[in-house]
Amino acid sequence: MENMRGSKVISCELCPVLVESRSRIVNGDGKMDAEILFVGEGPGREEDISGKPFRGRSGTVLDKSLRENGILRENVRITNCVRCRPPNNRNPSKRELSNCKNHLDTEIALINPRLIVALGRVPSEHLLGRKVIVTKEAGKIEVKNIAGLDRKVLICIHPAATLYNPNQKIIFESAISKAANWIAPEGQKNKNSSNRGSA
Ligand code: SF4
Repeated sequence: MENMRGSKVISCELCPVLVESRSRIVNGDGKMDAEILFVGEGPGREEDISGKPFRGRSGTVLDKSLRENGILRENVRITNCVRCRPPNNRNPSKRELSNCKNHLDTEIALINPRLIVALGRVPSEHLLGRKVIVTKEAGKIEVKNIAGLDRKVLICIHPAATLYNPNQKIIFESAISKAANWIAPEGQKNKNSSNRGSA
């Protein structure tokens, strides 16, 4: 059983294990007409408690990097590949990713972002449909047909990976800085314009 309203999943029981482990469904958060959509793996403990994606330490790292590039969280959209917390923060299974793909595709189609930023290996591989070594490929933009249109996907390291590794912090910040180029300055917002950013 599943039930969506716009980009929000109101009720869903497609993944029995996640239905048991979640406190709530964690839907995407942020602007509906955002130019950038960040996609993480799935909710962790903080997200499961707050009901918002990318809270806690990972959220703090992401917010700080966005701010340093002149972007406020409320001006982007953030969501996850799966909307329910896996037990013990394990990776979502292939079946769970597949179960939740329709929800992610619906959100992507509604937001229609200029750029999708995949935060970590799981969302990168899920969105691009291939193996990805994020430490080698972070910063790369690849075009992939998602939800009926060719979309630009930027591969990025997960913010949590930067906490204890200065090298990964540099790679992460460079990718976020690249993503920031896809936000049009105020007064020049036109999602259909193709002359901003570069792949
Ligand atoms: S992870 Fe997605 S598909 Fe699975 S139960 Fe939650 S909302 Fe449904």
